[in-house]
Amino acid sequence: MTQFDVDLFVIGAGSGGVRAARIAANYGAKVMIAEEDRVGGTCVIRGCVPKKLMVYASRFADEFHDAAGFGWTVGETNFDWATLIRNKDREIDRLEGIYRANLEKAGVETINSRAVIEDAHTVHILKTGERIRARYILVAVGAHPTMDPPIPGGELGITSNEVFHLETQPRRIMVIGGGYIAVEFAGVFAGLGSEVTLVHRGDRLLRGFDEDVRDALGEAYAQRGINLALKTTVTRLDKNADDIDVTLSSGSVVTVDQVLVATGRRPNTKGLGLEKAGITVDEVGAIPVDGYSRTLIPSIFAVGDVTNRVNLTPIAIREGHAFADTVFGGKPTIIDHDLIPTAVFSTPEIGVIGCGEAAAREIYGEIDVYKTAFRPMKATLSGGSERVLMKLVVDKTTDKVVGVHIMGNDAGEMIQLAGIAVTMGATKADFDRTVAVHPTAAEELVTMRTPVVIKKPIAVG
Ligand code: NDP
Repeated sequence: MTQFDVDLFVIGAGSGGVRAARIAANYGAKVMIAEEDRVGGTCVIRGCVPKKLMVYASRFADEFHDAAGFGWTVGETNFDWATLIRNKDREIDRLEGIYRANLEKAGVETINSRAVIEDAHTVHILKTGERIRARYILVAVGAHPTMDPPIPGGELGITSNEVFHLETQPRRIMVIGGGYIAVEFAGVFAGLGSEVTLVHRGDRLLRGFDEDVRDALGEAYAQRGINLALKTTVTRLDKNADDIDVTLSSGSVVTVDQVLVATGRRPNTKGLGLEKAGITVDEVGAIPVDGYSRTLIPSIFAVGDVTNRVNLTPIAIREGHAFADTVFGGKPTIIDHDLIPTAVFSTPEIGVIGCGEAAAREIYGEIDVYKTAFRPMKATLSGGSERVLMKLVVDKTTDKVVGVHIMGNDAGEMIQLAGIAVTMGATKADFDRTVAVHPTAAEELVTMRTPVVIKKPIAVG
């Protein structure tokens, strides 16, 4: 009899855990995966996928409006929240089914229970009381939304976990935060016709993004009618019979139907038994790992948001895959977390790869910046006021494009493709010799010829 029941026990059937389990099983490992909630994790069940469906829903209002300039008469339009939620739920059920089926097809045993670690090789299945001995344990339990520090009445707010299941569309909603989730849902609800107030402690949205993109999104959101309360925090929430009074740091009180708290996420490491195995989490609760996703305990690995490296689905998937290649495939693989294309599904959408202008200047010293902002062709007839922003940041020494920043329709689609070029190390000359596709918005990426003049700070003394 072998010393272990399984070769691999994965805790958490989200993007990272499922990928790791399937690839390890493909290599011939005996694999079990435990999930206390639904299979699919944050991305499929309460994140990227349902969010994107809601983003699509929110953009029809613009289309109806734009149609008139092209000769269409669109009759009276009406949005039904319940239909959207029902159809979205059906699609999520379908996807969960596919995830479960794929695990089964790969020969992975799925356990519907919370599982906690007891020591370097033992996992306790809480539902059955069973203890499984595993050669390797992979922790892929993800993260959860938080508000830290909490505010009085904070429990009246909802998070991105609940927003997908509201029974009715809030007529007035406040969104707290200025990150990915806050700007995406502010855009969704504004598009669906809710009155949106976005409260953010910073002076601009999306800290860490290029400053021009941040400015442009702020302007676009204000133009779309979103009330932006910047440099503002929420001090308390008070429940009324039918709505919620939100007191702001400015002293003003805003009355809304829902408050969406989108102030960041924390790893799900509480009560997981990590300390019993000798693993100490960091100050935000994340599991420290090396480039191979290995913890200090050689039999325990961790991937995805629970490690708080780059908290994006495709990265969790890559980390999970690399773990399986390393441990079961004989191909030690380290994931490069440096050059990651990403999209924010705000409306207008944002797509980014590489450095912003300020960060590039710090890293590369001498840079060239190419920038264009224009009215998209469709807006000429629709009369829309939207703008497209495109920006290239180029390392002057090597001519390499080290940053691409796009705001406008389909920016997510564009950045995926521009991302290939940047990942390959394309230079500005490579962009220049690429023939434009006309008439598109994306052609501007290959037709910008003159760098913007960068004002140097005047030396004093
Ligand atoms: P983010 O870290 O992106 O943003 C959190 C926001 O909340 C920031 O604006 C932050 O302000 C603010 N904040 C933090 N603490 C407080 C507080 N106590 N009071 C007031 N404001 C506060 O987190 P999200 O929750 O939006 O998203 C989590 C992660 O999920 C993202 O970072 C991203 O990695 C991922 N994600 C990716 C998506 C995509 O790829 N499209 C979509 C959604 C999520 P400040 O900037 O000042 O720190």
